[in-house]
Amino acid sequence: MINPIDALLAEKGVLLADGATGTNLFGMGLEAGEAPELWNETAPEKITALHQNFVDAGADIILTNSFGGTRHRLKLHHAQDRVHELNKRAAEIARAVADKAGRKVIVAGSVGPTGELLVPLGAMTYDEAVEAFAEQIKGLKEGGAEIAWIETMSAPDEAKAAAQAAIDAGMPYTYTVSFDTAGRSMMGLAPKDIHGVSEGLPQGPVGVGANCGVGASDILSSLLDMTEARPDATVIVKGNCGIPEFRGTEIHYSGTPELMADYVRLAVDSGAKIIGGCCGTSFEHLAAMRKALDGHHKGERPTVEAIVERIGPLRNKTADQSGGTGESAEARRERRRSRA
Ligand SMILES: [Zn+2]
Repeated sequence: MINPIDALLAEKGVLLADGATGTNLFGMGLEAGEAPELWNETAPEKITALHQNFVDAGADIILTNSFGGTRHRLKLHHAQDRVHELNKRAAEIARAVADKAGRKVIVAGSVGPTGELLVPLGAMTYDEAVEAFAEQIKGLKEGGAEIAWIETMSAPDEAKAAAQAAIDAGMPYTYTVSFDTAGRSMMGLAPKDIHGVSEGLPQGPVGVGANCGVGASDILSSLLDMTEARPDATVIVKGNCGIPEFRGTEIHYSGTPELMADYVRLAVDSGAKIIGGCCGTSFEHLAAMRKALDGHHKGERPTVEAIVERIGPLRNKTADQSGGTGESAEARRERRRSRA
């Protein structure tokens, strides 16, 4: 059986994933510290609107509102015993929107980090991680998610545990890592090594890549490393909408729709097969990205210098390069908390 992503890629060549979940839900009234997943039950019409707006903007793939849907994350909101129902509901809401889109829209079940560190750095064993992800992924599958979309991972072994859980549940999977620490993931994974994360598992990923991170230039630089390492892989980029900046206590993103459109063109030229936006990417940005994707023919592979010239300076050191201005620790903490 062919998975939905390969099937749609065969038809369209490059796919557009959606934009920010967190940023847009904050715009709809979500309070800092509130669990977005609880809105699947208390404000499903807002989650429906989120998905519908992205489908209207032209998304081929929408991510369920289940990023923090493991028992470890939900425990912070005293909802650890409702993992199955909250994830199932998240998938059902997205499924209903996708089913009436009038074209194929893939429902991807978002699976984010547990927030726990694995042994030996922390207390969670690999098997416990698999179990926690399995509980979440079963709910997503039952609600109609077609693929497990493992994202914003820092630790390779945690991403692998989530992939194992997807395989156990009979789901195809993708995984993306956040390269937000000097061009690597917080746990030191370099972009070129992304392909090896699932090594040893009985079934490989449908796609791998990067999401979130720091800026659009930085993730494009990571993309060059990932596609160079394995040119035939389906590589995903879901970059933040420019650079996060604090204005008072509010976080803002510097990217304009024009900048995100150019990010899409550069991502295509760099070999990405699935392109979307992470933190700060609004419906308006995504509509500009759709237009850019539809109007662009793959061009010459850009250099990092060309990316910097068109998108702006790198904010972080790249994996192989020193320099860059770096992101404030405060901005990084805030981004990890609110994600997407
Ligand atoms: Zn993000």
